[in-house]
Amino acid sequence: KLYNQVQDLKGSIRVYCRVRPFLPGQFDYLSTVDHIEEGTISINTPAKNGKARKSFNFNKVFGPSATQEEVFSDTQPLIRSVLDGYNVCIFAYGQTGSGKTYTMTGPKELTDQSQGVNYRALRDLFLLADQRKDTFCYNVSVQMIEIYNEQTGLSVPDASLVRVSSTSDIIDLMNLGQRNRAVGATALNDRSSRSHSCLTVHVQGRDLTSGNILRGCMHLVDLAGSERVDKSEVTGDRLKEAQHINKSLSALGDVISSLAQKSSHVPYRNSKLTQLLQDSLGGQAKTLMFVHISPEPDAIGETISTLKFAERVA
Ligand code: ADP
Ligand code: MG
Repeated sequence: KLYNQVQDLKGSIRVYCRVRPFLPGQFDYLSTVDHIEEGTISINTPAKNGKARKSFNFNKVFGPSATQEEVFSDTQPLIRSVLDGYNVCIFAYGQTGSGKTYTMTGPKELTDQSQGVNYRALRDLFLLADQRKDTFCYNVSVQMIEIYNEQTGLSVPDASLVRVSSTSDIIDLMNLGQRNRAVGATALNDRSSRSHSCLTVHVQGRDLTSGNILRGCMHLVDLAGSERVDKSEVTGDRLKEAQHINKSLSALGDVISSLAQKSSHVPYRNSKLTQLLQDSLGGQAKTLMFVHISPEPDAIGETISTLKFAERVA
């Protein structure tokens, strides 16, 4: 029993894979995903002599028909642990268009059913805090941060840390953050896919009997698109952006894989992203990574590189 408790106190890293469905109009494509079985996904890869199949293992794989509710269901215990004073990071990784924002936020036209992890996590947080109101008094505040070209900015100006008391407060704030993020972006030059966007929720709980204070925080991170750009085709700002993204995503991969391997040195200093999240990666903190793949045959190169990245951190 004691051993189990000690195990529970330890940090954990879980990796889930999610496959985006084909979008309207893509009905005549053939998926690169051959089959999915619990934690295993098999991919058809182009091979010189006929098809080849490659399998990857994760804690769980969600197929194209998985609902937002199903995808969130296993995340609930993490929300509880934030209220218990632990730090949590939830990441969405994948190439642009693979469904990262859909998982974290939802589609553009949001309904109750299509709400993503961010909304569901915050709703649960307030619900659980309310259930504990006879024993704990919780304060919740949030911060929205954008990392672009290794520089940190606040997506909500003049409001670095905002006290919130309900899910709707946070929805208003997230909408404001999204709008600010879109400023300066043209249709062809969508900056949101080239910056990391992080919604951080700070929770402070006071034990009403002992007076003890506990603090937990949760980072919900919609990462920049992981696609590689062809160095021969881009120059200037676009190349600089690509190099920054590459650097920070590989730094994140290095940190998580060294944590997974319980290595004694964890290279947090190699990027802004890992520096920012240092307190919430490793130790007793809990990490969940959703890796996203697109089903189209022409995405196969990125799909395989995403699955390899994810397998390294799992
Ligand atoms: P990313 O943030 O990785 O660039 P998006 O989340 O914007 O990708 O998804 C690209 C498009 O696919 C959007 O139109 C989105 O609504 C749609 N989409 C992504 N995932 C799903 C899903 N699981 N079910 C239905 N539509 C999805
Ligand atoms: Mg996105």
